[in-house]
Amino acid sequence: MANLTPRINWPRLAVLGATLTTALVSGVLVTAQAQQAPPLPNFDQVTVRAFKIQGNVWMLAGAGGNVTVQAGDDGVLVVDTQFAQMADKLLAEIARISGGKPIRYVLNTHVHPDHVGGNERFRRAGRAIIAGNVAQDIADSGAEIIAHENVQTRMSRVDGTTPAAPSGALPTDTFFGESTEVYVNGEAVRLIHQPAAHTDGDVLVHFRGSDVVATGDIYTNTGYPVIDTARGGTINGIIAGLNRILDLTVPKDKQEGGTMVIPGHGRIADEADVVEYRDMVTIIRDRVQQMMKKGMTLAQIKAAGPTSDYDGRYGATTGFWTTDQFVEAVYRTLGGK
Ligand SMILES: [Zn+2]
Repeated sequence: MANLTPRINWPRLAVLGATLTTALVSGVLVTAQAQQAPPLPNFDQVTVRAFKIQGNVWMLAGAGGNVTVQAGDDGVLVVDTQFAQMADKLLAEIARISGGKPIRYVLNTHVHPDHVGGNERFRRAGRAIIAGNVAQDIADSGAEIIAHENVQTRMSRVDGTTPAAPSGALPTDTFFGESTEVYVNGEAVRLIHQPAAHTDGDVLVHFRGSDVVATGDIYTNTGYPVIDTARGGTINGIIAGLNRILDLTVPKDKQEGGTMVIPGHGRIADEADVVEYRDMVTIIRDRVQQMMKKGMTLAQIKAAGPTSDYDGRYGATTGFWTTDQFVEAVYRTLGGK
């Protein structure tokens, strides 16, 4: 990480309640008024915490995006890998959860370095399943890394704010259609592309048997959604993504638990939490759109406070993703100049 340019806007740690520490999203384009890059988290002081969700699925929280782990007789599937500096701690926790099973698959929800930073270490720690079956192992081949092709494209080049990733960190398998699927540990795990949402390479990961959705940064409950406009994100794509999550989830019933949702950052959620968040984001989008129709400028829209009733819960005046930046990203991606 030390070779990254100071133009990277590093995530800052946010403490979420007593039990869950996580980092806010990184990799967002730093604009002209940006401050000095904040210091990296002190990785030595970060503890990995594991939460059993349901079925075969666990969530690990440390520094960076939440990590989802599916473990069973076939081995381990992991969604996202936080920062490279977290890899040893995460791998130790995964070994504990899985009883030492090899990592077969690494799925990436999107390109940001707090979600793909550990890819290379995870790949080397893992073993691939040849031809989608457990028939044959090749010890040195490493885990497969699966992502949308836009993630691979962006990781393999210097794009202005992020240097190219080492080749061992790149996805080994990509897809470009609407979805792809992996069958492992007795369940289908579906990767669903959501175009132009948080970035242009976001996927939702749906564990169909365990009934869990890992959302990447399309859904985070730590603040307003981060829209990385430099990497193809848009407000309408975020809202479409939130609605897609709701297509996949079923609510809790009196007898049975419903679908559980693992956000990119923040605490474990259920359908009701996502409904509330989707409604909030949609209302703000509609307000900004109405103001734009009246001919208001960005400055006038910001002054009118389209988010004000939600700022107590989701707003920020400092840090890398402020309410101001969110409103501006909504405005710009709705076509405002
Ligand atoms: Zn992100």
